[in-house]
Amino acid sequence: MRIEEPKILAALPGLSTDLRREVSLAGLTSLGIGGTTDLLRIQRHEAIPRLLKLLDEHGVSHKFLGGGSNLLVADGELPFIVLQLVKGDPEIALDGNSATVDAAADLGRTVTFCAKNNLGGMEGLIGVPGTVGGALRMNAGAYGIQIGSYVREVKVCRAAEHKIEILRGEQISFEYRHTSFAPDDMMLAVKLELPSKPYPEILQGIRICNEKRRSSQPLGQKSAGCIFKNPPGGSAGRMIDELGLKSFSHGDARVSDRHANFFVNAGQASAADMLALIANVRDRVQRAHGVTLENEVVVWNA
Ligand SMILES: Cc1cc2nc3c(=O)[nH]c(=O)nc-3n(C[C@H](O)[C@H](O)[C@H](O)COP(=O)(O)OP(=O)(O)OC[C@H]3O[C@@H](n4cnc5c(N)ncnc54)[C@H](O)[C@@H]3O)c2cc1C
Repeated sequence: MRIEEPKILAALPGLSTDLRREVSLAGLTSLGIGGTTDLLRIQRHEAIPRLLKLLDEHGVSHKFLGGGSNLLVADGELPFIVLQLVKGDPEIALDGNSATVDAAADLGRTVTFCAKNNLGGMEGLIGVPGTVGGALRMNAGAYGIQIGSYVREVKVCRAAEHKIEILRGEQISFEYRHTSFAPDDMMLAVKLELPSKPYPEILQGIRICNEKRRSSQPLGQKSAGCIFKNPPGGSAGRMIDELGLKSFSHGDARVSDRHANFFVNAGQASAADMLALIANVRDRVQRAHGVTLENEVVVWNA
């Protein structure tokens, strides 16, 4: 989608927002798949309510992009524009056991920065790519840890009112890869409360988690992490593996031979290839196990 409305184009410089024309989302997502659209890069949180109001008034649909590590984006020209936050300065500010982190900050860097300051708890999140904003939206988690457990406050731009609000952790429900934010709420920053731990102890935990990832995931290949959520009490990866579907493919979209819940772009896969593979695997699991697997990957349809 191209932003054509003169009122929006004229307002962008005053809203500290850069416009990049016809950006390929394939270059901004870890799957390396996706069509083109206009991208707005936003530098000041204070400008966001006005920007979102302006877009809504002119019927410009938009989506929020973090690090693009959990996204499957449609092919071709996209019917929405994409908004992305530029990292604030400082990205992370510490005060005792609390860390205030910009939503655009890299999650891995946040974990290591806190660790070096003897703040632990998030060791399991090391190796989860993407931004802190994306992790909040998804309630990212691994190895028994989820980011929501450490959230004390979230600074968010509420979609309905075009207003920046601070929500307390107790006002938000963080479930398995699901949060109670409204679909169009934009995460701006978070205050985390983290337990004190000596750095060497945290480092030990980080090394163990890194090793577990390296030994089980196709880290050198283009993926979006797990495609499906685990069903209650089960493992999507195990179910797919038991059906002999490792390496099963549709075009260049392929079930990883290392981890059956990771689907990789083994070359020039299109979104259509990946969606066909997802539908096919879901159907086979449904027929064999009577379980309908739910997507963990977020799909941006055309
Ligand atoms: C190799 C690999 C391993 C992975 N391992 C894990 C894992 O162990 N555990 C896990 O939970 N995930 C894992 N993932 C998936 C992914 O890294 C996480 O879901 C991550 O938190 C997504 O963050 P992101 O910034 O890349 O979000 P994106 O992919 O950019 O976006 C994901 C969703 O969040 C929304 N979003 C992003 N930023 C904002 C914002 N500021 N405000 C509002 N909405 C926003 C998007 O609109 C979209 O709906 C893995 C992915 C890969 C490629």
